[in-house]
Amino acid sequence: MRPKELSRYLADLGWRDPLALPVETPTTAAASAPEPAAEFTDLEGLAESLRNCARCRLSEKRKTVVFGEGAPDARIMFIGEGPGAEEDRTGRPFVGQAGQLLDRMVIAMGFQRAQTYIANVVKCRPPGNRDPKDDEISACSGFLDRQIELIRPNVIVALGRFAANRLTGTDKPLGALRGRWSHYKGVPLLSTYHPAYLLRTPADKRKVWADLKLVLAKLAQ
Ligand code: URA
Repeated sequence: MRPKELSRYLADLGWRDPLALPVETPTTAAASAPEPAAEFTDLEGLAESLRNCARCRLSEKRKTVVFGEGAPDARIMFIGEGPGAEEDRTGRPFVGQAGQLLDRMVIAMGFQRAQTYIANVVKCRPPGNRDPKDDEISACSGFLDRQIELIRPNVIVALGRFAANRLTGTDKPLGALRGRWSHYKGVPLLSTYHPAYLLRTPADKRKVWADLKLVLAKLAQ
């Protein structure tokens, strides 16, 4: 073992470094962050464990962790990409313009927003609404997985490329994924376009409506 590795190894064990070599500190606080997953048996506890999360660099600029909201026993779970400015300010998912469109989509399906559960792949706002990076998505993935396990929805709807890629485990373009059923953790999963995309490309709303009708048919089974 090289001296530097030995130093880090001893530091990991909590021993004083006899070689007095500088030990590199991780760029994120992953080492000190609480582990998500199995130990949390309710959504409140899971959300609380995230309140001061510093697992990735998104914690540096966020105002609020946007855990997700909705009915704990929701039949439909919508999963988007990550909070925007309005979500970061309020701590609630999908409350900006895209969120208002999502609300209309939910109502068109015959549901109230509060009957569904809405969450994101990353729980903190990527600065300037940039795309979330792979390591940021990974840092949040245990929390999203546990959220899904606790809610146990009948159907998951992935909104946009980042949610679709994360949940299908592929990097296929959304055009190739939308409108097709797959499964995530045993739950039927359908991917469709993100409401923010629909605000820019309203002509594709009819494709999303076709996808949402598949969701309604699945729920009716
Ligand atoms: N876009 C998302 O993907 N999630 C939000 O919460 C808001 C906008």
